Amino acid sequence: MTAEAFLEKVSEEMVKHDLHDWSLKFSSTKRIMGQCFFCEKEIRISRPFYEANKKDYYDEMWQTALHEIAHALAFIHDNDHCHGEAWRKWCGVVGTPANVTGSGRDFNRVTPKYNLINSVTDEIIGHYYRKPKWVKTHGLSFFFQNKNSGKLEHHQLVEVGANKNKDK
Ligand SMILES: [Zn+2]
Repeated sequence: MTAEAFLEKVSEEMVKHDLHDWSLKFSSTKRIMGQCFFCEKEIRISRPFYEANKKDYYDEMWQTALHEIAHALAFIHDNDHCHGEAWRKWCGVVGTPANVTGSGRDFNRVTPKYNLINSVTDEIIGHYYRKPKWVKTHGLSFFFQNKNSGKLEHHQLVEVGANKNKDK
């Protein structure tokens, strides 16, 4: 299902629960699947997260949307703005299990833009959605002393999809 069609489906669900004056839109956050903003009366679903998970974890994406709708309803009717008793009750009403899923767990990560790798072993040590600030001081590669082994390791920031040896 396209992201637009998904949003349309969520929007219909919101109308079913009388959230007429609430808005719904995509966010570009890469770490949080869904958010509910009580003051703005707005639910946001992460478009990058949706795109990364629509094939493998469509159902979880849908449950996330219902989770946020339950937040809106718990806030309006019971003044509950966290994962409290009222929110759990509304989860039952909208039909989603009342559990709080950590972003990244059980889901596909949004593909990072850069990986930090150990250039000897090719092991991925970290990943980044934008160029990290330390690039300014360290450059794209640096030596790092491993605390456990005491050995110096060569770490390199590599753009995902790029061939790290292409300059050789
Ligand atoms: Zn929540």
